[in-house]
Amino acid sequence: MKRIAILGSTGSIGTQTLEVARENGDLEIVSLAAGSNVKKLEEQIREFSPKLVAVWTETSAKDLRERIRDLDVRVVSGMDGLVEVCTCPQAEIVVTAIVGMIGIIPTIAAMKAGKDIALANKETLVTAGHMIIPLAEETGVKILPVDSEHSAIFQCLQGENRGQLKKILLTASGGPFRGKKRSDLTKIQVEDALRHPNWAMGRKITIDSSTLVNKGLEMMEAKWLFGVEPRDIQIVVQPKSIIHSMVEFVDGAVIAQLGTPDMKLPIQYALYYPERRYLPGERLDFWKLTEITFEKPDMETFQGLKLAFDAAAAGGSMPTVYNAANERAVSKFLERKIAYLEIPEIIEASMEVHKVMPNPTVDEILETEQTVYEFIESRW
Ligand code: NDP
Repeated sequence: MKRIAILGSTGSIGTQTLEVARENGDLEIVSLAAGSNVKKLEEQIREFSPKLVAVWTETSAKDLRERIRDLDVRVVSGMDGLVEVCTCPQAEIVVTAIVGMIGIIPTIAAMKAGKDIALANKETLVTAGHMIIPLAEETGVKILPVDSEHSAIFQCLQGENRGQLKKILLTASGGPFRGKKRSDLTKIQVEDALRHPNWAMGRKITIDSSTLVNKGLEMMEAKWLFGVEPRDIQIVVQPKSIIHSMVEFVDGAVIAQLGTPDMKLPIQYALYYPERRYLPGERLDFWKLTEITFEKPDMETFQGLKLAFDAAAAGGSMPTVYNAANERAVSKFLERKIAYLEIPEIIEASMEVHKVMPNPTVDEILETEQTVYEFIESRW
C-alpha cells in the first residue's frame, strides 16, 4: 500500500487522483486538503477514510466537523492545516493539486519532511523553482510531474542521458481561439473561454489554456524540471492533443509520448513510478487517426505566451509577477470585471513596473504577489 496525501482533493486533478486510487485499490489516502467544498470533501472522507483533513477557513472546518462528527477524523484549517496534511508522518507522496501560489509553502514543507511530490501545482515551480529544485537534490525527494506535457517529457527521458538532451518540444492544443486574430477576441465572454477543445480542467487553467498563458507557465515549469534554457524549449501547436510532448537529442533523434487525452495516465504514472499499471479507457487507433498537424504559435495574438518568455528571460522575481498578475486578471475576468484582452495587458503592465529581485526568498515571493495585487487593484 502506497500512502498518499492530496492537496486540492476536490478539484479536477484531486478527484481524478482519487479515481485512480479507487480503480487500483492499493493506494491508502492518509490525508486530504481542500478550500471550501465541504460537501464533496465529506463524500471523499466517507469513501477513502483519511485520518486528517484540512480546509481553508475555520468556518468551513466547523461545518465539516459537524458533518462528520460520527467519524474519527481530525479537521484542521489555514496554512498550518495545509502544512500538517502534507507533512503527516504516514504520507509517502504528496499530490499537489491545489491551484495557485498557495502551494509553495506546503510543497516546501512536504519536501523537508522527506515526502516525494507528484506535482500538478505548476505555480510552485514557476515562482520558486530556484528553491524547489536544489531542495529536491538536498533532501533526495523525487518530483514527479503530473502535468501531461511534463509527464510526457519525463517518460521520453527514461533511460536516456539527460546531458544529451538538445531541446524540448512542448506541445499545445492552441486552445479554443486557435487561428483567431486579436480583433476577433475583443468580445470573448467567460463561457467562450471556458470551452476547451480537448481537456476538462479547473476554471483557472481552462482560461489560461485559452490565452496560452498556461503554455507560458508550462515552459517555465519545464525549464526547472528538466534543466533547460527557455531558448531550448520550442512550443509546437498540435491541435488534437495526441502528442503530449517530445524531446530532441543531440543526434537529432526525436522521441514523443502519445495517447488519448486523459489526465489519469500522468497521475497514475507519477503515483506508481517507475511501474506502469493497466489504465482503462480509450486507446489510440492509428488506422482511424488519419493525420497529426503542427503549427507555430501565434505570439502576436496570444501575447501572454510572449510575455512568459520575457518573464523567464528576466528571471528572479519576474515569473512571480507574471503568475500573480495572471491569477488576479483571470479571477477578474471570471467575475466579468475586465475584458478578455485585458488579461495580457494587466500582466504586461505589472511586469513593466517591477524591479527584479534575482533570488527571491519565499517571503519575497509572497510580498511580490501582494504588491502585484495592490498595483492591479489600484488600476483596474
Ligand atoms: P481546480 O480549480 O479544479 O481545483 C483546485 C483545488 O484546490 C480544489 O480542491 C480547491 O478546493 C483547492 N483549493 C483552492 N484554494 C484552496 C485553499 N486556499 N486551501 C486549500 N485548498 C484550496 O484546479 P485543477 O485541478 O484544474 O488544477 C490544480 C493545479 O493543477 C493547478 O496548479 C493547475 O495548473 C494544475 N494542473 C491541472 C490540470 C488539469 O487537467 N486540471 C493539468 C495540469 C496541471 P475547493 O474546491 O474546496 O475550493
